[in-house]
Amino acid sequence: MSDQLQVLNPATEEVVATVPAATAADVDAAVVRATKAQSGWAALAPGERARLLRRFAVTVDEHLEELARLEVREAGHTVGNARWEAGNVRDLLDYAAGGVERLTGQQIPVPGGLNVTILEPLGVVGVIAPWNFPMPIAAWGTAPALAAGNAVLLKPAETTPLTALRLAELALEAGLPEGLFQVLPGHGSVAGNALVEHPGVAKIVFTGSTAVGKQVLAKGSALLKRVTLELGGKSPNIVFADADIEAAAAAAPMAFLDNSGQDCCARTRVLVQRSAYDRFMELLGPAIEAVTVGDPADEKTDMGPLISKVQLDRVRSYVTDDLDGIRGKAPEGPGFWFPPTVLTGVDPHARVAVEEVFGPVAVVLPFEDEAEAVALANATDYGLSGSIWTRDVGRALRVSQAVRAGNLSVNSHSSVRYWTPFGGFKQSGIGRELGPDALTAFTETKNVFISTEGPAQ
Ligand code: NAD
Repeated sequence: MSDQLQVLNPATEEVVATVPAATAADVDAAVVRATKAQSGWAALAPGERARLLRRFAVTVDEHLEELARLEVREAGHTVGNARWEAGNVRDLLDYAAGGVERLTGQQIPVPGGLNVTILEPLGVVGVIAPWNFPMPIAAWGTAPALAAGNAVLLKPAETTPLTALRLAELALEAGLPEGLFQVLPGHGSVAGNALVEHPGVAKIVFTGSTAVGKQVLAKGSALLKRVTLELGGKSPNIVFADADIEAAAAAAPMAFLDNSGQDCCARTRVLVQRSAYDRFMELLGPAIEAVTVGDPADEKTDMGPLISKVQLDRVRSYVTDDLDGIRGKAPEGPGFWFPPTVLTGVDPHARVAVEEVFGPVAVVLPFEDEAEAVALANATDYGLSGSIWTRDVGRALRVSQAVRAGNLSVNSHSSVRYWTPFGGFKQSGIGRELGPDALTAFTETKNVFISTEGPAQ
């Protein structure tokens, strides 16, 4: 009997589904189908490809509630977040569809002829997705790759294959050709690894942990495979004393508690200028206690469970009883629950202050001045996101330039929009996704010179 993936509801620990795990042979067969489908897809008129992708977007929209409910069951996401996630897939498909007819090369002046560049699809693209945002992250790679004329093989995380499988069905329903977008649920070390090592897969878009990302890069490099990596983060939320402290304290909880802290952009290092520290903490306590943790299917819930027992144990290992701070409430009984937790008095070099916990845990660290704030913000191997709270425009710009991270926001915590570029500095990744250049990342540039001199006599 084939190996099965067991999908659990993280809020109840009940089995939602079992799904056969793809083997390396399944990956081989999928590459053959995808290669065939890709040549037909790339040959379609651009307007036709765009039309089919728009139809896919409409089909996703028609099934938005169903997809969202499936995400609640398999990932424990709050229903409000899950609806946003399904909507994000629709929007990504629409946005990418708008790029198909705009995927233009250049005409470069040269003597003796005409020089043009052509952006050609890569072929078959492997997208390896994590469990924390199963739908959006799958679509970040898939939508622009398809729009640029590629076929896509998507390997969802072991714990969250269901929405990905449903998206593949919806793609067929919308009229996308068989084999063009296939989902291969399976183990990272088997199906994921087979994609990385397959010579027929031209590019890997990997989102996940930094440790596995490094392995993917090393193995992919043996074939000079194109690799994009979106990895971990330990992002700062820098609050200067001149900021609107009420607004900063009100926004701080969900900046690290959204998706139960299982967010690569979570602002888990709250850096507060010492002169505003007491006031900030006075406001933060009630704001944390006001966060509703519970049944993710309930519209009023702010935060659901963690994804799995493994993740729960990992988060617990960082929060020892000797640490001071604020602890919110979480349900007891079945489910992978952990309360909102803010730790104070932590050594800035402690594990919990520098490693990605990937749970609802933040540390608050005081700083004296701008130079110390920047030094603390940069004192991590990661460089994904961050926020800066200040009323001083010059300081906002100076600190935005000084913090080594790919996605910053001033007086807010927003970092991900499908039409702006996203990606990490340092060990948070390589390459960028989303934004105006999203499709280009799935092409090779071909340069063609056409002589006007006529054939040699
Ligand atoms: P993970 O690295 O364990 O797994 C990610 C994916 O890689 C899964 O599909 C897994 O099956 C697969 N995989 C595992 N081993 C593999 C191998 N040897 N070869 C190929 N594929 C393999 O990460 P995770 O625990 O699922 O996800 C959490 C991590 O993802 C966090 O570190 C988080 O910060 C990161 N993340 C980053 C971003 C971003 O955009 N930067 C977004 C979301 C999550």
